[in-house]
Amino acid sequence: MCIINILPFSFGSCKCADCTSTISSRNDAIISKYYDSVVENTSGKKKLAIIVPFRDRFDELLKFVPHMTKFLNNQQIPHHIFIINQIDRFRFNRASLINVGFLYTKENFDYIAMHDVDLLPLNENLKYDYPIDGPFHIAAPGLHPKYNYPTFIGGILLLKNEHFEMVNGMSNKYWGWGLEDDEFYVRLKDVKLKVYRPQNILTGSSDTFNHIHDRAHRRRDTTKCFNQKEETRKRDTKTGLNTIKYEIKNRNELSIDGIKVTILNVDLKCDKNSTPWCDCSNQESSKPMPRKGLRKKK
Ligand code: UDP
Ligand code: MN
Repeated sequence: MCIINILPFSFGSCKCADCTSTISSRNDAIISKYYDSVVENTSGKKKLAIIVPFRDRFDELLKFVPHMTKFLNNQQIPHHIFIINQIDRFRFNRASLINVGFLYTKENFDYIAMHDVDLLPLNENLKYDYPIDGPFHIAAPGLHPKYNYPTFIGGILLLKNEHFEMVNGMSNKYWGWGLEDDEFYVRLKDVKLKVYRPQNILTGSSDTFNHIHDRAHRRRDTTKCFNQKEETRKRDTKTGLNTIKYEIKNRNELSIDGIKVTILNVDLKCDKNSTPWCDCSNQESSKPMPRKGLRKKK
């Protein structure tokens, strides 16, 4: 069942996965209007949707957009940037936001880059070409500034639409920081998709990317509540593109230094029976420690 609002900017809102095709056909005209100007000189090539899972990272976004646009234009990659902004009050869900971005862009684009907003590629030999044979992990272990284990596929990952659909996208069970990318690795492995990585890169973990991540200012939400710890360590064979529940509340076309990007304001729905840890606010584990300076005098 799908609820479509007819708004001045003709925007659809969706309550479930099955109605996305209705929306995407209406989005065709809207997306291509903004998109045409970006790809004028490179038509005929496969089109890349940069999908950025996002919440409260405005400073990073202001750096990301000009940097990525220049970087991709140098490689003549036809692309458009989609900021998938989580506006509900549940914990951040990177994987579900990527699913939303994919469902929104799949009719008009050939491949996606799931792309952290704070990870800027510096080495021009990191190529964002169409990943014809299998997922292409740009932020590879050994190159990523922080994560260096062989099965790591987070940060920046390119997939053609068919491959993302083949694994039913990402799990929707990962609220809060971590593990959603590791679960996605198992999805790829299960269908025997080989992950490719950049070759012959002469830079290393300190100079391949700029990770604009201040750990004190941008605290990772590592809280675990209810049975999250156990449940998120398992491969999820149930949830993904075909189960995601969300509503796109509205859309903004934002211009940063003259570059147009699309912001989707997304309200994710949480089924508290299956993933109660989407909200840990009333749980023991997430109570803040008393701070010394605020203790009452006896
Ligand atoms: N993110 C966000 N807001 C948040 C948490 C995460 O926008 O509150 C997005 C953002 O794109 C970020 C990515 O999710 O780059 C990964 O999160 P983070 O950088 O905290 O994790 P890291 O990979 O650096 O450990
Ligand atoms: Mn980061």
